[in-house]
Amino acid sequence: MSLFDTHCHLDDKRFVDDFEGVLARARAAGVTRIATIGCCNSVETVPRALNVARAHADWVVATSGVHPHDASHWSVPLAEAIVAIAADPLIVAIGEAGLDYHYDNSPRAAQQQAFRDQIALAKQVKKPLVVHTRSAPEDTLAILREEQARDVGGIIHCFSETPDFARAALDMGFVSSFSGIVTFKNAVEVREAARLQPLDALLIETDAPYLAPIPHRGRRNEPAYVAHTADCIATLRGIDPEEVRQRSFENALRVFGLPTGHA
Ligand SMILES: [Zn+2]
Ligand SMILES: [Zn+2]
Repeated sequence: MSLFDTHCHLDDKRFVDDFEGVLARARAAGVTRIATIGCCNSVETVPRALNVARAHADWVVATSGVHPHDASHWSVPLAEAIVAIAADPLIVAIGEAGLDYHYDNSPRAAQQQAFRDQIALAKQVKKPLVVHTRSAPEDTLAILREEQARDVGGIIHCFSETPDFARAALDMGFVSSFSGIVTFKNAVEVREAARLQPLDALLIETDAPYLAPIPHRGRRNEPAYVAHTADCIATLRGIDPEEVRQRSFENALRVFGLPTGHA
């Protein structure tokens, strides 16, 4: 029994008070691998997620990138710092990068440029891309296509689109990672996408501290709760929860380029 939380933010300040408890509860819930996402908005913040992974290198890996919310901070020095840190074997992907037209915290032109540049950067360092996309399905697919993101592939994280979007993304080498949203009864399209997604292209994540699944909805999320997402997907598909855990775990190792054969 192994779970891989492929997307959370362990360097978030909401984890500071009980960080060891968060990790202990994850272990107790069967989580044996975590990818902590490095969202930076300055050269100084680039090493933050990697430092968390280094302190727990037996089971935690990290990524590095600029979230669309912070796209207005995108700069050449920041890109260079991400390229430099990406040489570390504990950095398993570039991102999260992408488009968020729901919040529009950065101008859309800036989001698009930072996204395009990070696809190029992922290709340069030969690591997969973690994509954040919200309320921007057409532009996300167009940019992935135009920048030939297929060369590296990666993950559509916190999947919040339609089954058609999942298929189009998979055609370009992007698997879908499902979060606690699948446990929300009104998330009809996302639940349908989780039901239809090929089992060799499905990941699970918490996106903690955000988006706690039922029965924890509305409270702080944490990696232990990824078990609820796995169980919910198993119920939606009518299969054994262990199959969802095992397959999504193997998929995560493959996408992140981590050695297989051990949990
Ligand atoms: Zn995100
Ligand atoms: Zn995230």
